Amino acid sequence: MKLRDDFLVFGAPEVRQEEIDEVVDSMKSGWMGTGPKVARFERDFAAYKGIEPPQAAAVNSCTAALHLSLMALGLEPGSEVITTPMTFCATVNTILHSGLKPVVADVDPNSYNIDPKAVEAAITPRTRAILPVHFAGRPCDMDALMAIADRHKLHVIEDCAHAIETEYHGRHAGTFGDFGCFSFYVTKNVVTGEGGMVMGRDAAGMARVKTLALHGMSKDAWKRFSDSGFKHYQVVEAGYKYNMMDLQAAIGIHQLARVQASWERRAQIWARYQEAFADLPVTRPAADEPDTRHAYHLYTLLIDQAPGVISRDAFLDAMTARKIGVGVHYLSLPEHPYYQQALGWRPGDCPNSLSIGQRTVSLPISPKLTDADVEYVIGMVRSVLLQRH
Ligand SMILES: *Cc1c(COP(=O)(O)O)cnc(C)c1O
Repeated sequence: MKLRDDFLVFGAPEVRQEEIDEVVDSMKSGWMGTGPKVARFERDFAAYKGIEPPQAAAVNSCTAALHLSLMALGLEPGSEVITTPMTFCATVNTILHSGLKPVVADVDPNSYNIDPKAVEAAITPRTRAILPVHFAGRPCDMDALMAIADRHKLHVIEDCAHAIETEYHGRHAGTFGDFGCFSFYVTKNVVTGEGGMVMGRDAAGMARVKTLALHGMSKDAWKRFSDSGFKHYQVVEAGYKYNMMDLQAAIGIHQLARVQASWERRAQIWARYQEAFADLPVTRPAADEPDTRHAYHLYTLLIDQAPGVISRDAFLDAMTARKIGVGVHYLSLPEHPYYQQALGWRPGDCPNSLSIGQRTVSLPISPKLTDADVEYVIGMVRSVLLQRH
């Protein structure tokens, strides 16, 4: 197979003229910061998720969304929060930033999502919350997790960074827990450059999130630069600087309008990969669970660790040499030195997650891919994996 000319960037966003025009409009309007387009993006997102607009607050990242949600719970310092080791480091870092103690519970080997049985086993008298991640866009077993939360009176925050389109038993991801946190980072399913959203089910919690997201200033501070005249604000706690800009929302409004079409394209690519890799020495993603909607954010293969099969890291290099951007989602978090030093975690603490992290590779699945791009990826993956090593 002939080498392509340009590098296929992993997770490259599909940006169209309408996003570009909307950003230019914001630049020309003189309103770049938090303003009417952020308000519209919040309304549009709430409508997409079937919630009321006050239940959604746009912020500048999912990391910020997670931090705000954890702070808004108002937990006693040192309280334990159970989460998955198969996630981005921000999930655990925000627990630490909130003065809380992360505890990892291993994943299910088929879904790669947190295993409710492992959650139950990790509960101690200090446990106050569960922070599940809908990995790759596949919903967690929310019936089991919510039953555990109810039984032990625990809060739930859903990390929905991969799960904008995800549904479980007819309900949107992010609507089960106290809060749902979304990401609009450049590689995610809806993009604003950097950006995030907090969804929350009670008004008091969302008011606290909004206050903390803007320096701890009273709620009306959001309106202090509007055309209705100067308004004094009051600082009611020491907050953060986590607001989204209109420049970012300008991109998100049009990305969100195409969310269904982008999902359909990724679903097509997913199906094509599933059939094309059936005979290779790999484990493909499990079939979707009944009555769920997968967001198809990441397409991951686990490379068999077997004689004659290329190692995972050599496979990553081989793809890069063939001009295909790939990712690793994720090395199990206890493999990282900081968590070992600060929390005493050991890689073997979560064996399923360790094994997945050592074998996994993510292939491009952006809606921007052409059919020719998809067939190129398939051809290269097949030829590299079918060589003897
Ligand atoms: C991307 C991601 C985040 C962080 O999102 P940002 O918007 O980049 O802060 C958190 N959790 C998971 C699972 C992610 O994939």
